[in-house]
Amino acid sequence: MATKKTAHCSFCGRSEKEAGTLLLGLEAMICPQCAEQAHQIVEEMFEKSGEPVGSPDFQLRKPKEIKDFLDQYVIGQDEAKRTLAVAVYNHYKRISQKVQDDEVEIEKSNMILVGETGTGKTLMARTIAKMLNVPFAIADATVLTEAGYVGEDVENILVRLLQAADYNVQAAERGIVFIDEIDKIARKSDNPSITRDVSGEGVQQALLKLLEGTVSNVPPQGGRKHPEQKMIAVNTKDILFIAGGAFDGIERIIAARKSTNIIGYSTSADQALDKDNMLQYLAPADLKKFGLIPEIVGRMPVITHLDPLDATALKRILTEPKNALVKQFTKLFAMDGIQLTIDDEALDFIVEKAIEFKLGARGLRSIMEAILNDAMFEIPSTGSHDPLHITRAYAEEKIARNTKLAQ
Ligand code: ADP
Repeated sequence: MATKKTAHCSFCGRSEKEAGTLLLGLEAMICPQCAEQAHQIVEEMFEKSGEPVGSPDFQLRKPKEIKDFLDQYVIGQDEAKRTLAVAVYNHYKRISQKVQDDEVEIEKSNMILVGETGTGKTLMARTIAKMLNVPFAIADATVLTEAGYVGEDVENILVRLLQAADYNVQAAERGIVFIDEIDKIARKSDNPSITRDVSGEGVQQALLKLLEGTVSNVPPQGGRKHPEQKMIAVNTKDILFIAGGAFDGIERIIAARKSTNIIGYSTSADQALDKDNMLQYLAPADLKKFGLIPEIVGRMPVITHLDPLDATALKRILTEPKNALVKQFTKLFAMDGIQLTIDDEALDFIVEKAIEFKLGARGLRSIMEAILNDAMFEIPSTGSHDPLHITRAYAEEKIARNTKLAQ
C-alpha cells in the first residue's frame, strides 16, 4: 500500500494532513482512524458470530461437553465441574425454552461454590462465561452494603456486567455474575433475634432481589444513585449468579450435623465419614447455620464444594491447563528466541514452596516470577539466544535470595 498526497479519506473525508497519513486502495483511501474503526467493527462481527446465548444459532453444549471444556482449564474439582455443567445447561435451557411454555416454570439454577481460597472457584465461573461467550463480572461481596450505607450499592454488580457487555443490555441480561466471598456477608448468628447484624443481613436482603429476578435501575457509570441521573433498566431474571466462598469453619458445622444425625445408629456410619474432607457432605442447612439467610440459600439451590489442592494437583496446574504457567513463561522466552526448559525437580520445588508459604495455586505465579525474573531482566539486553535450563538448584538459589515471598 502506498500513501498519496493532497487526498481525503473516502470514509470520513479527513484530509491527509488531518489524518496524518492515508492508505491507498484500488479506488479509495482510508485514514488510520477509519481503518481502526473498521477493524473494531469486523472484530465485533466475528465475536457475535460466536453464537452468543439468545441468538437463534446458539448451540447449547451438553453437560459432558461443558465439563470437557472446563477440564482444559481447571484441574481436578470433578464434582464441582459436573454440578456446574448441569446447572449451566439447565439455566440456558430454561432461557431458550421459556417462550410460550407457561405450564412449568423452570427456576434459575444460581449456585454456591464452597472451597478454600485459590482452589478454582472464580476460574470455573470465568471459564464457563468464556465458553458461552456471555458477559462476565466479578463482584466482591465484602464491599457491598445496603443502600444508604457507606460502600457499594448492590446494583453496582450490574454496572460491572453492563460494562463487560459494552453496555449491550440484552447481552448483560444473559450474563454471569460471580459473587466472591459470599461467606463474608453471613450474619454472625443464625438466630436473627439475638444479634441483628445489619451489615451482613442487610446486604443479603439486597442481594436477594437480584437473585430472584428484578428490574433494577442501574446508574451507567456506577457510584451512588442521584435523582437527575439517567438510569439503565436491567432485568436480572436470566442472569446466572454464582457465588463463592471459603466458609471457614463450616466443616465443624457439617460434622456437628452429621454426628447428631447418627446418634442412636450404629457407629459404623460415623467411621464411614471421611473426616479429612467434610465439605463433601455439605448441605443447605450448613450454609444457613453459617449465617446465610434461608431466602438466599433458597435462591441459590445448587451447592457444591471444591477440594483443597494437594501437591499433585498444584504440579498439574503448573503444566497442564491450556494456559498453564509453564506454557506461558515458555512462550514469553520463545518470543525472545530462547528455549526455556524446567526440570521436573524444579517444578516439585515450586509446588513445595507454594504449600510452605500457604499460597496455594495463587502462589505458583509469584514463585515462578521470582525464579525467572533475573533471567527475564538480563537476557533481552544480551541478545543471547542460548537455551535457558532451570534446575532445582537454580530455583532454590533464586528463592533463597527473594525476601518478599516468605512473608
Ligand atoms: P478462588 O477459589 O479463590 O476463586 P481462583 O479461581 O481465583 O481461586 O484461583 C486463583 C488462580 O489459581 C487461578 O487463576 C488459576 O491460575 C489457579 N487455579 C486455582 N485452582 C485451579 C485449578 N483447580 N485448576 C487450574 N488452575 C487453578
